[in-house]
Amino acid sequence: MRLKSLELSGFKSFAKKTSLEFQSSITSVVGPNGSGKSNVVEAIRFVLGEQSIKSMRGKSGVDLIFKGSKNLSKASRASVTIYFDNSDHIFHLENEGGEKVNLNYDTITISREVFTDGLNKYSLNGTEVRLKDIQALLTSVHIGSSGHHIISQGEADRILNANNRERREMIEDALGLKIYQYKIKESERKLERTTNNMKDVSLLRKEIAPHLNFLRKQVEKLEKAKEQKIELLGLYKEYLQRESVYLEKEKNVLSSERNKISKELEDISSKINDGAQNETKENSKNEDIRNFERKINDIRRVKDELSRKLGRVEGIIEMEEERKNKGDEPTSDAVFISAEKAQTFIHEMDECVSSALSKNDILEIRLVLERIRLIVQDFIPKNKNTQPERPINSIEDLEKTKDEILEQVHKIEDEERSFINEANNLRREIEQESLAGREQEKEKFALVVKRQEFNSDLNMISLREENLARTQTSFEDEIREGSIFLGADILSYKNFEINGEESRENQEERRKKIERIKIKLEDAGLGGGAELQKEFEEVRDRDAFLTKEMIDLETSIQSLRKLMLDLKEKIDLEFKEGVRKINKEFQEFFSLMFGGGSAFLSVVAEQKRKRKGGEEDLEGEDDIEEDGIVFEHGIEISVSLPHKKVKELHALSGGERSLTSIALLFAMSQVNPPPFLVLDETDAALDESNSRKYGDMLEKLSHHSQLIVVTHNRETMSRAGVLYGVTVGSDGGSKLLSVKFEEAAQIAK
Ligand code: ATP
Repeated sequence: MRLKSLELSGFKSFAKKTSLEFQSSITSVVGPNGSGKSNVVEAIRFVLGEQSIKSMRGKSGVDLIFKGSKNLSKASRASVTIYFDNSDHIFHLENEGGEKVNLNYDTITISREVFTDGLNKYSLNGTEVRLKDIQALLTSVHIGSSGHHIISQGEADRILNANNRERREMIEDALGLKIYQYKIKESERKLERTTNNMKDVSLLRKEIAPHLNFLRKQVEKLEKAKEQKIELLGLYKEYLQRESVYLEKEKNVLSSERNKISKELEDISSKINDGAQNETKENSKNEDIRNFERKINDIRRVKDELSRKLGRVEGIIEMEEERKNKGDEPTSDAVFISAEKAQTFIHEMDECVSSALSKNDILEIRLVLERIRLIVQDFIPKNKNTQPERPINSIEDLEKTKDEILEQVHKIEDEERSFINEANNLRREIEQESLAGREQEKEKFALVVKRQEFNSDLNMISLREENLARTQTSFEDEIREGSIFLGADILSYKNFEINGEESRENQEERRKKIERIKIKLEDAGLGGGAELQKEFEEVRDRDAFLTKEMIDLETSIQSLRKLMLDLKEKIDLEFKEGVRKINKEFQEFFSLMFGGGSAFLSVVAEQKRKRKGGEEDLEGEDDIEEDGIVFEHGIEISVSLPHKKVKELHALSGGERSLTSIALLFAMSQVNPPPFLVLDETDAALDESNSRKYGDMLEKLSHHSQLIVVTHNRETMSRAGVLYGVTVGSDGGSKLLSVKFEEAAQIAK
């Protein structure tokens, strides 16, 4: 027995925990109307994952929970558990990854609970699972979701009422093809995922392609740059080593030349300096001569003054002597002075004082003072009153004055002479010295010329030194620049061995070559080559990975398509074969029921309805596409009752409909027997003779599938091995008891 037992608790009218054991191939549930028999059938639907609450006569999940009665309080949840025998390990389940879940149980227990908030909970052998898992598990034992194996009350003719497409589904289900349909659905989902993945991967590849190309070009450049660097290092080594040797040598040459010339220049300079000292002496003598000449001039001015004064004194003496000779009395002391004379006096005095103030030499100042005295002497005696000017001194006084003047004249004339002599002596000395100087001059000129030469030689050396300093700087710059491209390797030039001397032009050529390579390297702009290489490898590997992934995805798309095609072919084949087998059985059951006639199923193609947005309804798998119109396969039932012309299904009587349905249902169950069949008052419309035929068929069927029949029919009850009576207890809840046939017939009334 596949179905072992069923447990209900809080489900609909079953308030308390109630258990049904299915030890017989036919178990019958009997009881009065409204006792809860159909609730037992619905409990089976419920626990197998039924999603239509309506098919369990409820509006929401809460309606499935015991609502309470006079004596019993309402339940907080409805719970149903079903037990299957699995000693042959027929139940299978796969996880998301397509791997088999370990179901090493001899009994498979499926539980479903619904809570007052409408929440459902499914368990498999005590472990909470998803509805999906329950459905997959049941599919593995041909208990499909179409529920064709559970015929509820009033649904005896369900398969007749169903449309072609629903019928096809029921038949697919009965034939155990649903499992393939699930696989196709799964493959479609995988295909969609894979196609999306492929799009993503292709997008990623497209995204990285320009970067990869860029990096590839850079790396190629890098390779080329590596060769160029090797060439550059070779050139640099020789160039720098030759340059360094050249610089060293030139520095030494210039330094010794400079030392030599500097020394010579020093000698010449000291000789030229000696000559310059003589010149200074001559200059100071000339200055002395000019001083003497200035003094002589001053003396001569004083001398002129003295001689004018002497003239005046002699004139006065002469005049006095004449007056004396004429016998004239001397006049009073008072003398008259003209305004003009007074003016002249003031002016002369002023001039003398200014002159004295400007002198430093006491001798010259004395001369000025002398003059002042003369001017004053000349002026005072005549300044007595406003009377006309006339001599006031005696001739003796005048003579005395005259002598004094003469004495002064003689005195300054002595001075004059002495100055003239001194000046002349100096001139002579200068004359003699200049004779000797001319010789020296010649020598000095030669020295100056020589010095000029040495100086220009030194200038030349300075220029060469400057050039060399520039060469040194560019040598250092070159090392610095080279190190940017070659790093510390640049310094390896120090170990380079020079092979023979060569011209500077060769170095220049070498430098130009270096420059050209540097420009190329700079143009390539490949700083951080190692990182670039690493990045290139990473991006290249990523691209290779993505390419492989594309191939893998393409392969899996191909294999998914192939699988789907194979599955469709398989379904198609098995479906057609199944329908053929069902038809054979159907015909047999039908003629058994009606005592003749014919009944068969035919596969028809129907135009498929369109979904919103023009998308096709791809529910059907055996679809045919023709000129944009999609067709789907359905199942049509054709019947022909014996002795009657009626062929239309809807024209059959209730009993005829039931019988036809049962015949078909039984035919389906014969071809691919489900583990159990639940029939809720399917026999309600049968008369006595048909009830017997029905009972015979039940027995035939029970060889392959367990049967649970809810019935009021005595005939049907008589075929059952186990009978359960359902009654409403005094507490208001449904009660279940195992009964004997006679009791059952009694209870059922
Ligand atoms: P019949 O022979 O007339 O078909 P039945 O034995 O099949 O009757 P059911 O239809 O199984 O009877 O039971 C219906 C009974 O279950 C009704 O009396 C109904 O009140 C009761 N019932 C349904 N849902 C609940 C619920 N949630 N709580 C309590 N009782 C419920």
